[in-house]
Amino acid sequence: MLNVRIDLPAFRHNYNAVKSIVGEKVAILPVVKADAYGHGMLRLAEEALKLGAPMLGIGTLEEGIALRRDGIAAPVLLLDGLFMEQAEDAVKYHLTPAVYLLGVAKELNRIGRKKGKKIPIHLKFDTGMSRLGFAMAESRDAIAQIKKMKNIQVEGIMTHLASSTDLQSPQTEHQLRRFEAIIGEAKRAGLKPAYIHAANSGAILNFKSSHFTMVRPGIMLYGAPPAEVKGVEFRPVMAVTSRLISVKEVSQGEGVGYNATYITPRKKRVGVVLGGYADGVNRMLSNKGAAIVGDKIVPIIGNVCMDDFMVDLSRATAAKVGDEVTLLGGGYEETSVEKWAELAGTISYEIFCRIGVGSRTKRVYR
Ligand SMILES: *Cc1c(COP(=O)(O)O)cnc(C)c1O
Repeated sequence: MLNVRIDLPAFRHNYNAVKSIVGEKVAILPVVKADAYGHGMLRLAEEALKLGAPMLGIGTLEEGIALRRDGIAAPVLLLDGLFMEQAEDAVKYHLTPAVYLLGVAKELNRIGRKKGKKIPIHLKFDTGMSRLGFAMAESRDAIAQIKKMKNIQVEGIMTHLASSTDLQSPQTEHQLRRFEAIIGEAKRAGLKPAYIHAANSGAILNFKSSHFTMVRPGIMLYGAPPAEVKGVEFRPVMAVTSRLISVKEVSQGEGVGYNATYITPRKKRVGVVLGGYADGVNRMLSNKGAAIVGDKIVPIIGNVCMDDFMVDLSRATAAKVGDEVTLLGGGYEETSVEKWAELAGTISYEIFCRIGVGSRTKRVYR
């Protein structure tokens, strides 16, 4: 059982920080896919719209339908696109798909014709990530064909950058050059996309030339920017706490946790914190991570279990059952998402996304 506190003022601060970087003329598409990186999609979607975001970015059709069912009427861009058979629902729920397959474009055009309206889409181009998007070689033909579809409105043109956090890599410049060529192609073909966009958080921070008319920040809005910009600060939005469900003396030479990967070197007070890998406490933190009790840093000892983990309370002598424990956030280096990610051999994105994927997490908004 974890308590996840979401700091809405911090989210608002981060949104305005993005705005201060890109300027007033560039639109901001807040990315709230994957339950807003574990922060709560609906609540943060509402918040982002209040801040003036013209459109929201999500992954899948299902997420889009969830937003609509919760009463969000604003434009919503499906970054991952659609399967052909999802086109009807996309139109029904007024979701704007990223399109990178001609078959899907044709299907949307057919539905548009039947309904007597133009379906807005964003064309997605693969400029070098080899993930989603029309390949460079097929882009000119795709643009020509889609231009002919009377019931499709190309509202946006987009690409995604693979290495925007890496200033040493030439890949971003290379991708941007290819994207510029595609934009030229589209304009020559007579397309007039209102939104031209490429930048994720890394690119927003590192590559001003990637901003075009819209940017797509995700992780930086949640307070874990993948790069730094002088004079701009981002605040962590998520803090995760739990409580000590047991505190007891363990004598010297006893094993702690499954497979006894930690043996007490002397008599120790061992606390058990509710919250395990089923709740998103990465098992890689076993014998490596730390939590905060009171204002004391307490090391995780033994293997993280499914429901809980153990901590060495030697330094928190006053700790007792029921006390609050900070797992993530709280302003400590040891409980920063960056530290977790480093210890778990992953990125902060994955740490966030896994917090509270189970049903045992309580999210509270401030
Ligand atoms: C997830 C995603 C983003 C946001 O990326 P961050 O690195 O979190 O800023 C932007 N664009 C697309 C297409 C994405 O899938």
